[in-house]
Amino acid sequence: MRYSQMLLPTLKETPADAEVISHRLMLRAGFIRKLTAGIYSYLPYGLAALRRVETIVREEMNRAGAQELLLPMVQPADLWIETGRYEKYGPELLRFKDRHDRESCLGPTHEEVITDLVRRELHSYRDLPVNLYQIQTKFRDEVRPRFGLMRGREFLMKDGYSFDVSDEQADISYMKMYEAYKRVFSRCGLTFRAVQADSGAIGGNFSHEFMVLAETGEDTIVVCTACEYAANMEKAEVKVVGPASSEAMADLEKIETPGKRKVDAVCDFLGIEAANLVKTMVYLADGQPVTVLVRGDREVEEIKLKNLLKVADVVLAEDKQVFDATGVPTGYLGPVGLTIRLVADQEVVLMRNFVAGANEKNHHLKNVNYERDFQVEVVADLRKISTDDPCPVCGGRLELTEGIEVGHIFKLGTTYSEKMNAVFQDSDGQEKPFVMGTYGIGVSRVVAAAIEQNHDENGIIFPMPLAPYQAIILNLDPKDEKITAAAEGLYTDLVSEGVDVLLDDRDERPGAKFKDADLLGIPFRITVGKKFGQDGIVELRSRKTGESDGMSPDRLKAELLARIADEMVK
Ligand code: ATP
Ligand code: MG
Repeated sequence: MRYSQMLLPTLKETPADAEVISHRLMLRAGFIRKLTAGIYSYLPYGLAALRRVETIVREEMNRAGAQELLLPMVQPADLWIETGRYEKYGPELLRFKDRHDRESCLGPTHEEVITDLVRRELHSYRDLPVNLYQIQTKFRDEVRPRFGLMRGREFLMKDGYSFDVSDEQADISYMKMYEAYKRVFSRCGLTFRAVQADSGAIGGNFSHEFMVLAETGEDTIVVCTACEYAANMEKAEVKVVGPASSEAMADLEKIETPGKRKVDAVCDFLGIEAANLVKTMVYLADGQPVTVLVRGDREVEEIKLKNLLKVADVVLAEDKQVFDATGVPTGYLGPVGLTIRLVADQEVVLMRNFVAGANEKNHHLKNVNYERDFQVEVVADLRKISTDDPCPVCGGRLELTEGIEVGHIFKLGTTYSEKMNAVFQDSDGQEKPFVMGTYGIGVSRVVAAAIEQNHDENGIIFPMPLAPYQAIILNLDPKDEKITAAAEGLYTDLVSEGVDVLLDDRDERPGAKFKDADLLGIPFRITVGKKFGQDGIVELRSRKTGESDGMSPDRLKAELLARIADEMVK
């Protein structure tokens, strides 16, 4: 492609309303232009990057035995009513009526449509397993569309769905996708982790999120420095440390703690560590009060609590709500004699002789012990993991990092097939619901994540597999016949070798060309300028390392081909 003919409007200024680097660089590098909130046009350069991701995704899905199809974007509400999601999905689902007054929506995902298709077309165990995918524009009316392609309202997604005869077979389909996803993100040249995830509202048996590691990630993930373990912060399992303390139980003692409501204040006053105190926190679980016990220096992980109680929502109760539920002012609550629902973090039941509120204003209890002094409805892992905790798999040191979710795989089970009566006849003659899995990749988000992970102060540094062009040739003096002939010659030769090359033949100053080349992030830059006029030397420079070498055009061709091949991840 010739730069002089391409719609590639680069910007010198940093756009004011772009908060993250990928968004800024995509605007500056003429990738995308905003039409309205969360909705973008892809210009040719941006589309080329998107196509690179698409190609890798398509090849790996096909390799894993999935079949591509294309489903409609406009969907009848009826299908969503069947699964109950027309109500549940909330305002992210854009609803409208057609001219015949039929309720419709724009597809944010396609479980309903694909299940409808499969229940009509597949009837026997002999037809299974089947895995169907598409690469298509999704619409989600996100509350806060932001960060450019990272969280758009309209975005490109690969969504796939597997249908199996049994749970065991569904696990096999799931694992195939797990492996395929690892290949996709490796081939994209990205640093990522597959993490065990909270399966949230969809409620499958298990799920993994694929996270590209980058500072601007919206999710915090816990990774082990010694083994492969990685988990979403909310899901990260805390390993129980040790058996119960062997200390003898001392007598329960009520003490006055005037005005001491906060953990720190109580500890200072009594001269104890927060690890010897238990916090008693009241939450409203779908509106109903539940008390949670955790060690004084720990935090409750609300997602774990929500999952344990199987409710849609948990919120920390306000002082008045605590008082209404318990008759005790906040700060003096404790487990002994409390009459509302009580659950405890696993660590609490191992503690001996701890301090807790006495359920009486200005008083605490000393030497409280589980079982002797109070019982709980359930003991579970309810606290946030921290970097002080050991890896739950190998005991190694944990680190927290930020990640961008680029892919998500869920084992769905029969949730959708049962609701939609999607059944097949099994080999024993029985009718059974399909066992399903659902697998998404945010294709447009992958491009943003790749830029978040690979850039410097001058612009994008594309990993080779995602680069719209593998090399850019700068003709530094289009008016000089000799230089121009060499640049054009290299361009023609490289194109005929199958290299994707951009030829900067614009009538611009060299400085502007160097700046744009850096901004665009094309992996190799070839400069044809004065040195060629003098010594027949052209320059080959790597965007990533900044290293450059002078050489003859012939050597350059050979060297470039070898280095491109080197950098393509197989
Ligand atoms: P998130 O938690 O980021 O909202 P999600 O759980 O809603 O994601 P899924 O429904 O699993 O996402 O969608 C599959 C993939 O689509 C995600 O892993 C992500 O990469 C991408 N994706 C989801 N929402 C958006 C969006 N608004 N803009 C761009 N990509 C998105
Ligand atoms: Mg979402």
